[in-house]
Amino acid sequence: MGRLLIVSNRLPITVHRRRGQLQFEQSAGGLATGLSSFYRAYDALWIGWPGIERKNTIGDRDEIKERLLAEDCYPVFLSQREVDEYYNKFCSATIWPLFHYFPQYASYSQSTWQAYEHANRTFCDAIVEVWQQGDIIWVHDFQLMLLPKMLRDRLQDPTIGFFLHIPFPSIELFRLLPWRTELIEGMMGADLVGFHTWDYAGHFLASVRFLLGHESWMGRIPAGDRVTRVDVFPMGIDYARFAAAANSPEVEKEVDELERTFVGRRVVLSVDRLDYTKGILQRLEAFGLFLDRNLQYHKKLKFVLVVVPSRTMVARYALLKRQIDELVGAINGKHGVVGWTPITYTYRSVPFPSLVALYRRADVALVTPLRDGMNLVAKEYLASRTDGRGVLILSETAGAAKELGEALTINVNNEEDIVAALEDALAMSDAEQGERLRVMQRRLRRYDVRRWAQDFLDTLTATSESQEELRTRTLGTHVRRRLVKSFQQANRRLLLLDYDGTLAPFASSPSKAVPSQEVMELLSELSSDAGTDVVIVSGRDRASLDGWFGHLPVGIVAEHGAWLKSKEAVEWEMLEPLTSEWKEEVRPILELYADRTPGSFVEEKDFSLVFQYRRSDSRLGELRARELVSHIEGLTTNLNLQVLEGSKVVEVKNSGVNKGRAALRWLSEDIDFVLAVGDDWTDEDTFKALPETAWTIKVGFSSTAAHYNIGSPGKVVALLMELLQADE
Ligand code: UDP
Repeated sequence: MGRLLIVSNRLPITVHRRRGQLQFEQSAGGLATGLSSFYRAYDALWIGWPGIERKNTIGDRDEIKERLLAEDCYPVFLSQREVDEYYNKFCSATIWPLFHYFPQYASYSQSTWQAYEHANRTFCDAIVEVWQQGDIIWVHDFQLMLLPKMLRDRLQDPTIGFFLHIPFPSIELFRLLPWRTELIEGMMGADLVGFHTWDYAGHFLASVRFLLGHESWMGRIPAGDRVTRVDVFPMGIDYARFAAAANSPEVEKEVDELERTFVGRRVVLSVDRLDYTKGILQRLEAFGLFLDRNLQYHKKLKFVLVVVPSRTMVARYALLKRQIDELVGAINGKHGVVGWTPITYTYRSVPFPSLVALYRRADVALVTPLRDGMNLVAKEYLASRTDGRGVLILSETAGAAKELGEALTINVNNEEDIVAALEDALAMSDAEQGERLRVMQRRLRRYDVRRWAQDFLDTLTATSESQEELRTRTLGTHVRRRLVKSFQQANRRLLLLDYDGTLAPFASSPSKAVPSQEVMELLSELSSDAGTDVVIVSGRDRASLDGWFGHLPVGIVAEHGAWLKSKEAVEWEMLEPLTSEWKEEVRPILELYADRTPGSFVEEKDFSLVFQYRRSDSRLGELRARELVSHIEGLTTNLNLQVLEGSKVVEVKNSGVNKGRAALRWLSEDIDFVLAVGDDWTDEDTFKALPETAWTIKVGFSSTAAHYNIGSPGKVVALLMELLQADE
């Protein structure tokens, strides 16, 4: 097995230059600390920006590289200007607000977008320098969303995972981005795309469907000749580290010191990076209201508000800092008395032991982000409560709320809700606190950051192996060569070709999907050879097929096998006598569904009725299709009908009729080469009906009875072209 290449914007080690000297320090932040012990246990290399501007590295780049390599890190050097444009602007002022449901804060500028692209390319170049066949690449977060595709375009069959640490927003927000398609395509370059919650994954799948037109099945998106898997991995924390620290003498000592300040008072704690997504102002407002209402807690309670400086270069953050300062001042001014100020506010980062001591001492953790991808503070608080006490109040809009159902969850926009939760938390019995804590702690202990990372990597490896399987089923050069050879050597050949989705791509309505000039010429030439029988095996009606192919010497199957016409014949023939009286009963039902599904319609053929929903919203279409199928189930058994669910269609027709049975009519003893190509469900009958020796090819990559898969109708045409040329 190859190495693990972790790629993130920042390295876990930050390089500074102080008074001319280079200094190497641990970076702050959940990913860096969480994964640092994990990646050291692996044969791994971490690739990212070491936090020092490129200009400051002149003359020392080799030394920096060497010292970082000794820590299994590989630097990507960025200039201050690049960091400003790419990180401070595009990442912080476009993606961050939009993905956190603050579209009003998002700015859109072509030049910062270009900087983002450029930075992703710089990362790509660095990875290409170090990548070796067999290495696994794991790309992290919103700074590098274009990277998976860039890497896939440059490397030979790489294994790439991507994890997004922030929310993926609803399509209604994501679609506002001018570069939405590029970002989605970038992520789709990965074999596995991971999110913290199923909601985020669902939003991503909806965006892929809407922007790229790819459907998903059980979190798998077949696109071209690959499948991208989407799954949920709620990031954990280094549980053992917090639990151990909570009981360490160093932290005990700090807790004792805190006690001297708090002297028996109840403590409510919050810890956040300075960010408008964290709901700090809303929390303060609610705390003010709590004090208005609960005089009994005056002088008996402290709210410790820890704000960690962040993105200080961005104007909006500076403004937020001022607003917090003012509001804290106003509340303390209103309620404070000599000897007691309700809010203790710090604006700086806190060393690890002090942070754990605060977690240990706080009766209540008040975690109320407006939006948060996960929120690790909530989890760290729980892990630090080795004493079995403490209450967590958590916004339902934090990713962590999905896992922490035993917390008191609140809607952060509802002040009353926050006040009530504070009252409940402060009144909660020790027994109840302990019960709630234990359940959450058990979960967090099991799925800690190492399990999270291992789970992601195991899933990535499995995905990449199934990709490999797919590649072996894909009609590659080698198999194609064998196929062409056996075509050349055969005396009598039979080509069974489906039409829609095989010879022609799908169009918005069936009447628009006419055969191209190229396909017409191809069929005409292939069929002009006396030794080659070409049969179009379609679900379409007779008139359309006659109109397109009637003048060619080809056989035609219409309506999925209800009608047949051999190349010499003028008249159509029925596979078996069929009736269509049942239509009177079934038509009104299909019409009812079409009326309720904008963009859909009912198509009528001689022996079938079709509910077509290609132009409808795909989710609504699928829902209606499922409803329709269950609605007519009973009816179809009585009337001896079958219901087929094809590509964006539900087709009702007489049972016993299928493409396979029809196709067998063309099979004879002297045929020594059979090729069948089709894209949909109904073609499976053809694949199954044919002898094992037949060449069966499915267009697209969903599961099939065919021996091989091929990517698209364009590739089918290219294959047929190859057969034709081989014959010349
Ligand atoms: N943290 C920190 N310095 C501090 C206080 C906290 O690095 O002074 C850490 C905290 O322990 C947590 C992280 O910052 O691991 C914050 O993660 P979270 O998911 O809560 O929010 P984010 O900052 O990622 O939005």
